[in-house]
Amino acid sequence: MRETTSDGQDTADPDTGTEAGVIVVGAGPAGSSAAFHLAQAGVDVLLLEKTHFPREKVCGDGLTPRAVHQLIRMGVDITAPGWMRSKGMRWVAGKHQVHIDWPSLGRYPDFGLARGREDFDDILARHAVAAGARLRTGVKVTAPVTDRAGRITGVTAGTDGKEPLEFRAPVVIAADGASARLALAMGVRRDARRQIATAARRYYRSPERSQEEYLELWADLRFPGSDHYLPGYGWIFPMGDGRVNVGLGALPHRRHGKAELRAALDQWLARTPPEWGLREENAEGPVRGAALPLGFNRRPLYAKGLLLVGDSGGMISPWNGEGIGQAMEAGEVAAETAALALAAPRGPRRERVLHSYPVEMNRRWGSYYRLGNAAADLVFSRSGFQPVLNRYVMNSPFLLSTLARLLANLTDNPSHDLIDHLLNTAVRLVPAPRRS
Ligand SMILES: Cc1cc2nc3c(=O)[nH]c(=O)nc-3n(C[C@H](O)[C@H](O)[C@H](O)COP(=O)(O)OP(=O)(O)OC[C@H]3O[C@@H](n4cnc5c(N)ncnc54)[C@H](O)[C@@H]3O)c2cc1C
Repeated sequence: MRETTSDGQDTADPDTGTEAGVIVVGAGPAGSSAAFHLAQAGVDVLLLEKTHFPREKVCGDGLTPRAVHQLIRMGVDITAPGWMRSKGMRWVAGKHQVHIDWPSLGRYPDFGLARGREDFDDILARHAVAAGARLRTGVKVTAPVTDRAGRITGVTAGTDGKEPLEFRAPVVIAADGASARLALAMGVRRDARRQIATAARRYYRSPERSQEEYLELWADLRFPGSDHYLPGYGWIFPMGDGRVNVGLGALPHRRHGKAELRAALDQWLARTPPEWGLREENAEGPVRGAALPLGFNRRPLYAKGLLLVGDSGGMISPWNGEGIGQAMEAGEVAAETAALALAAPRGPRRERVLHSYPVEMNRRWGSYYRLGNAAADLVFSRSGFQPVLNRYVMNSPFLLSTLARLLANLTDNPSHDLIDHLLNTAVRLVPAPRRS
């Protein structure tokens, strides 16, 4: 897709449309969701994306009910062809294998989805454009523009070999992914104490597995050539089109450091039955990997006119490595905040509204992420998921459901059942962070 509006008009003229109410940098799930919700609120929003759609993004392509909830809130047609539904998860650990259906909750749908990011991001960007956002692709943001107080007032960008451009807006949303270049340029640094996970994935042609109704997760992967459990898990996500997305993600191990993901993937796939087809001759494309910024590892989420959403704000869940739904949800909150801020006069009142964004994000996920960061440090990065998925847990439907809902952050609040009650209480009891 190239720089088109909802009515298909070309908006590629570099001399027009460089002013906006809000500039969103990056049209991944975070940026397109933010742009969609801003446009819905009637805000003039400019969405700048360095690539052209459709384009690949390294990902597992799996969507839990939380992410589906965000798609439904945006009115994306998930009944159209190409969306692969999942009923739940199949966990494999040692000799044990269990199926856990997505729960029936009041707030979230009881199904998940899978969709390749080549399509997914294109669909979301088009959806934002259809709502009224102005999308400019092939525009790589290079630096913030700031006023004398250091507040962001726009961005400079390079555009496919043409003259560099300057775009201006009173509020800017950074949705440029894990590199977080815009945040960095504004002095918002990563918390060096927080670990960064890495993940790698590859597509395989596997008619046998492609139509499966469960997202499959393997918890008993090991460091290549050793007995140590990998602090992470492997996945096989059915794409419904004859392919599966296969990958693994891991934290650095406390004692053994980072695993070589490609070797770990090969070692694991060699264990899978040949009829599944997860072998070199069925592979489509190379193994590709990327970093996973977890557990709010970059703060503050708002500073000097710039709001961080999605991976640029380190919003991937430390519990399960999921980041698409989180990026979309944060995009919605950031959009609402920016729209309210623009309705306030420039100055302290507007600033107060913008500062409510990190407060709201912390209210939603602060305690849950702190608990997840502690679990990652104390359990997952030492021994992976294997001790959690022990024989006792694997044989108890109640403990399994509790664990699954904890990992995917699926509860109703106020609580409707005992699991909601246990999980909501556990999260409530997490101590507030110490002020540094
Ligand atoms: C191997 C792997 C597997 C994963 N599997 C899953 C999964 O199954 N489910 C899940 O929920 N999450 C998964 N994740 C995490 C998920 O991919 C991310 O959390 C999600 O993509 C974050 O969305 P985002 O919009 O914040 O960033 P991104 O998706 O990275 O989008 C950022 C956008 O900004 C653009 N951009 C960057 N710099 C600039 C610039 N200077 N100027 C203009 N545009 C710019 C990029 O081109 C891109 O379009 C996985 C991650 C990896 C690495």
